Amino acid sequence: MKPNEIDLHKELKKYFGFNQFKGLQEQVVNSIIHGNNTFVIMPTGGGKSLCYQLPALVLDGTAIVVSPLIALMKNQVDAIRSLGSELGVAHVLNSSLTKTEINQVKKDILDGVTKMLYVAPESLTKEEYIQFLRDVKISFVAIDEAHCISEWGHDFRPEYRNLRGIIKQLADDIPIIGLTATATPKVQEDILKNLDMSGANVFKASFNRPNLFYEIRPKTKNVEGDIIRFIKQHKGKSGVIYCLSRKKVEDIAQLLQVNGISAVPYHAGLDAKTRAKHQDMFLMEDVDVVVATIAFGMGIDKPDVRYVIHHDIPKSLESYYQETGRAGRDGGEGHCLAYYSYKDIEKLEKFMAGKPVAEQEIGYALLQEVVAYAETSMSRRKYLLHYFGEEFDDENGEGADMDDNVRNPKKKVEAQNEVVLLLKMIRDTKELFKSKEIVFALLGKVNAIIKSQKVDANPLFGKGENHDERFWMALIRQVLVEGLIKKDIESYGVIKVTPKGHGFIEKPYSFMMSEDHEYSENEDENVVT
Ligand code: ADP
Repeated sequence: MKPNEIDLHKELKKYFGFNQFKGLQEQVVNSIIHGNNTFVIMPTGGGKSLCYQLPALVLDGTAIVVSPLIALMKNQVDAIRSLGSELGVAHVLNSSLTKTEINQVKKDILDGVTKMLYVAPESLTKEEYIQFLRDVKISFVAIDEAHCISEWGHDFRPEYRNLRGIIKQLADDIPIIGLTATATPKVQEDILKNLDMSGANVFKASFNRPNLFYEIRPKTKNVEGDIIRFIKQHKGKSGVIYCLSRKKVEDIAQLLQVNGISAVPYHAGLDAKTRAKHQDMFLMEDVDVVVATIAFGMGIDKPDVRYVIHHDIPKSLESYYQETGRAGRDGGEGHCLAYYSYKDIEKLEKFMAGKPVAEQEIGYALLQEVVAYAETSMSRRKYLLHYFGEEFDDENGEGADMDDNVRNPKKKVEAQNEVVLLLKMIRDTKELFKSKEIVFALLGKVNAIIKSQKVDANPLFGKGENHDERFWMALIRQVLVEGLIKKDIESYGVIKVTPKGHGFIEKPYSFMMSEDHEYSENEDENVVT
């Protein structure tokens, strides 16, 4: 059938039983069936799978779907088969198959039965498969979890880097579809570049979750007591508590139990049977609370999780977004409470110590974003969405009043002059520095970089010393979110003045800022063991 002759709504109903497309699905499907390179950025649960499954089912040939995890692929294939499709319509090709099974898969493909072939990226590097696929009519290649291509994504997989080259070996003009739920501008750019699809149609859904309430509390010695109180205030509701270490998971689960709260632990150190049992208990509502490491969550779809508590702050805002995103899937209340102490950040930094330098630098930069988010006193939703490259109207946008900062605003002060000074400092030091050096320069402090670049000779050097470091860092974050400055995408972290910022220097206007929170530290606190 020619693309224009396909009745997409009819096919949607026929294969999936749905009456409507969700969000941007219809536009995406249209882009794919017309043979365009397509890039889809949608939050988890947005309905990405259908975006390539429906085109695969209606187009001639077989679509190759690259996915990083065998377990996920199996789920997908089972789901497609449960739609009542023929058995061979979707297959997984991987090293766990026997020779006979592989031959059956190949036969189904050559017979034109298989519409979707799921493969792990490492399988695609096998010469045997490449040879075979050269003779197959491929409708398109969908690359799921495309952020695995980028070192700036939360799950970098080097094999993903080879995909573009391999696809070129299969045939010249196979359309490529990239899909991800990671939306930072840096990761997006990496994906487009690496897959060599600069002219792709890009579809980006909003990442705003208006029904989630974001809250950060200082992590004091009595964090456990605070958590117990919180849970008791949400009696009978489902919740997840994330901890960094397995031991902490066990300790907290036990503590909750002795305090009369029905809770189970979940982490990768438990055997598969116990894990499955605890997961089922949570899904069936035999227990209210799961205390878990990040091992919990993949593929969990409980719609009425009413709160997600982070006992320990996550290592990136992507993780934070993913994990908090498990609350309120049904659109109802979802309280996202995270405990923050700078000591936890230092602990996470220590975990990175043994890693390659480039990886450490990235990990460190991602952590600084977490610090900024935790310490900011501006709208958390605005900050988070800005991080994902999305502008949010913090006065009228959906969910605008749903965070602790907006509900309990700090007093704001006029900072027009300071913004001008900041912008001029960035401009006059040739836009070469990250926020740390800019703040040093404003305060008149010297380090090796400042010395070697002769920043201390600049007339503005030290002109901001009537404020402290905390003030300037807060101002930089707020000016960033206002779009007067931006972080350079190539050299992540280097700050540049935007045209809007240059306009501000020319014609300054009122800029009300609020200082960041200062969360007190607690010396003998034993956070993670
Ligand atoms: P993602 O891969 O983006 O996380 P999924 O593809 O798993 O999301 O889809 C999330 C859920 O939305 C699934 O339960 C799916 O069945 C459902 N869904 C997808 N498209 C539609 C639609 N058009 N109408 C109703 N439900 C849909």
